Amino acid sequence: MSRIAYVNGRYVRHAEAGVHIEDRGYQFSDGVYEVCGVRGGMLMDEELHLGRLQRSLSELRIPMPMSLAALRIVLREVVKRNEVANGMIYCQVTRGVAPRDHPFPPAGIKPAIVITAKRLNEARVAAAVEKGVAVMTMPDQRWARRDIKSVSLLANILAKQTAREAGAYEAWLVDPDGFITEGSSTNAWIVDKDGRVVTRPLSADILGGITRHVLLEAAAREGIEIVERPFTVDEARTAREAFVSASTAIIIPVIRVDDMVIGNGAPGSTTMRLRRAYAASGVLS
Ligand code: PLP
Repeated sequence: MSRIAYVNGRYVRHAEAGVHIEDRGYQFSDGVYEVCGVRGGMLMDEELHLGRLQRSLSELRIPMPMSLAALRIVLREVVKRNEVANGMIYCQVTRGVAPRDHPFPPAGIKPAIVITAKRLNEARVAAAVEKGVAVMTMPDQRWARRDIKSVSLLANILAKQTAREAGAYEAWLVDPDGFITEGSSTNAWIVDKDGRVVTRPLSADILGGITRHVLLEAAAREGIEIVERPFTVDEARTAREAFVSASTAIIIPVIRVDDMVIGNGAPGSTTMRLRRAYAASGVLS
């Protein structure tokens, strides 16, 4: 089966798909994206992802490229054409194609949209969930509007690469006051000394993760107490448990922060309870 991408109104072979060289996403990172998990061929938390996409676009004053109803149809079609049962769908919208110039192009330029889907490496995710992963802390060098899911990910990828070269799965980014903001592509969580689950509150400092949102609701249903407050690098290093959240893997336990082993070096019980609580919401097996 050959992969299929949706590009500006057409379904094309993935290998031959392309965008214009003056797409403002390509030249200025002038665009936003969404990643939505797919389980059993269904889009997970679709309405929340579409809501965040609309918000990101409106913060940058980029119009929606099509109606929400049409977008829902195209997303399903891309999942179907790529025969993705468990995996993810990627949707990117940029301000469109215009002669290179910093100010916004004249009104009427059509935003550009690309949608792709791919299967999840389930064995790799399962291994990470079973064993847990290491994270490495480093300064957060991103821009000041991290609540917008912008395709401008240069600081994120540099941080991730630094972590990977050091043998860690994820980079935990640290603000100038010594507090963790989030991971380079995940939200960051700890279980503190008193057994409370802690994650940073929503603000422009972090991306409002959809998984984070769903986990907060699942925890409330299960009676698991979560405190939204910033936590320091020292707290993270001496935490009882730690984990990261993101749409495709949902929760991955963290068993090492820098050179400090977390808990007994195995995924924590509260972490796994939360993972099960998410599953109980019906979107994860
Ligand atoms: N934080 C950042 C910087 C991210 O890039 C992501 C996901 O890509 C997340 C958090 C997690 O967000 P979500 O749960 O919506 O996947």
